[in-house]
Amino acid sequence: MQNNNSFGYITEPEKQVPVRKQVDILVVGGGPSGIIAAQAAAEDGLNVMLIESRSFVGGNLTIGLPILGFLGQKGNQIIKGLPQKFIDRLKEQDAASEHRPCPLHMSLTLVEQEAVKAVALSMLVEAGVEVLFYVFCAGVVMHGDDLQGVIIESKAGREVILAKVVIDCTGDADVAYRAGVPCEKGNENGGMQPPTLMFCLGGVDTDKLRLSIAEEPRTYLTDFIPAEYFGQNHQYVLVGLRNHIQHAQEDGLKLPTERTILITGLRKGEMWVNMTRVNGVDGTDPGSLSYGEIEGRRQIEDIQKYLVNYVPGFENAFFTKTAPFLGIRETRRIVGQYVMTQEDVLGCAHFPDAVAVASYPLDIHHPVGGGCTLTWCGDCYDIPYRSFLPQRVNNLLVAGRCISTTHEAMSAIRVMAPCMAMGEAAGRAAKLAVRKGIRVADVDVSELQQELLDSGAYLRTPDAKETMQELSAGAAY
Ligand SMILES: Cc1cc2nc3c(=O)[nH]c(=O)nc-3n(C[C@H](O)[C@H](O)[C@H](O)COP(=O)(O)OP(=O)(O)OC[C@H]3O[C@@H](n4cnc5c(N)ncnc54)[C@H](O)[C@@H]3O)c2cc1C
Repeated sequence: MQNNNSFGYITEPEKQVPVRKQVDILVVGGGPSGIIAAQAAAEDGLNVMLIESRSFVGGNLTIGLPILGFLGQKGNQIIKGLPQKFIDRLKEQDAASEHRPCPLHMSLTLVEQEAVKAVALSMLVEAGVEVLFYVFCAGVVMHGDDLQGVIIESKAGREVILAKVVIDCTGDADVAYRAGVPCEKGNENGGMQPPTLMFCLGGVDTDKLRLSIAEEPRTYLTDFIPAEYFGQNHQYVLVGLRNHIQHAQEDGLKLPTERTILITGLRKGEMWVNMTRVNGVDGTDPGSLSYGEIEGRRQIEDIQKYLVNYVPGFENAFFTKTAPFLGIRETRRIVGQYVMTQEDVLGCAHFPDAVAVASYPLDIHHPVGGGCTLTWCGDCYDIPYRSFLPQRVNNLLVAGRCISTTHEAMSAIRVMAPCMAMGEAAGRAAKLAVRKGIRVADVDVSELQQELLDSGAYLRTPDAKETMQELSAGAAY
């Protein structure tokens, strides 16, 4: 267990911890994977609880990001099921866009952050999930290799929630790590992708920016996305303008990235800026996180000056808000029963135990410096059930960005549409295990796959015919 023990140790006195609740399935963490996992688990009446350390659900869905990855590299929709139902509900409130094809990101689905919090919570409550906010999972209850529940910390002190199955959707593998599951962090040197404090500007002439790119592609160079795209699309993610950054840096502005990354909001004049970057932060250490928050906030001033003075459309822009917390790209990953690799991603791997399909490229923001590397596979790859299953510990599933992968494969599966699809698969797997009174590792994967398909999720392997039809109908890039 990580600690800063330069001041030595004390011994906590042994004490009795009250059991607050006993449930069938406990989901820890209410981000994209957790909100969907809990809904899937609760679908036919099991007793399901979701705990969340913040005062709202949504995780990184609330920090100003578009959801990437609903569409695959061939333009077909590869994430369906409950994640799509969530988007449909947001759309009813004009709080989500279509899945817009994007040559760089496969697809972007813009969402409105406040609506995400409200709609996700409503859907959880409607599904019968008990949601408990303001509690942090701080420990586990183990009996041998069996996980029996978690210890939570809150204003009420330390309490226990017992569960037949726990799904770790914390992004940081907090439950798995505390249960003794082997975990890894970062690349071969331990270097993790840097975090970003997202912020939002209002009063941006987003049309002026895109038309400048479309009309003067030699001045406004973008990464991978052709200039014509900006002529046709009102809502977009812009990556590039490297020359402009360099120019501003030569003029004395301190800019932490080599690329300008901007995301149009759903509301007129709104632009989210994904350009702060704090290398070296460890998102599992509060001191390091605090440094990240301070440094990220400090970087905003020069980034805003850069945008206003060097980028068309920002002449009248004004600061509106930062995201509610520093966005963490990478921390722990479990070492599970199968470790997904970059070869799996780039080789468009098929797995017999596929429970989700993704297509997003390897996308590594370098742990050192200001660069980023993207590599595409040309189609889709499966995510296997074994990557949700930790070594040794029973009754535990992991979903979201901290499943069992290498540093490289994590950079691909981490985007939010696949995280939601993983949540659906984990929730349904937990439900099958509880219904049958078996270990999650013993769930019949073909039964799980059938349940996923029957409930509208997308898988390639068992239904290749549908995949082929969709491919021929899909948008091409
Ligand atoms: C700056 C940045 C830009 C990105 N850009 C995009 C993008 O444009 N599009 C895209 O699709 N993806 C993007 N990603 C990736 C994506 O946002 C994440 O990988 C994804 O949200 C992970 O989902 P998750 O459910 O695993 O975890 P998270 O979204 O991190 O959610 C975890 C939840 O668990 C809660 N939690 C954590 N620990 C505990 C605990 N111990 N007890 C109780 N609750 C806990 C947290 O409060 C949080 O609500 C980006 C990420 C970052 C940081």
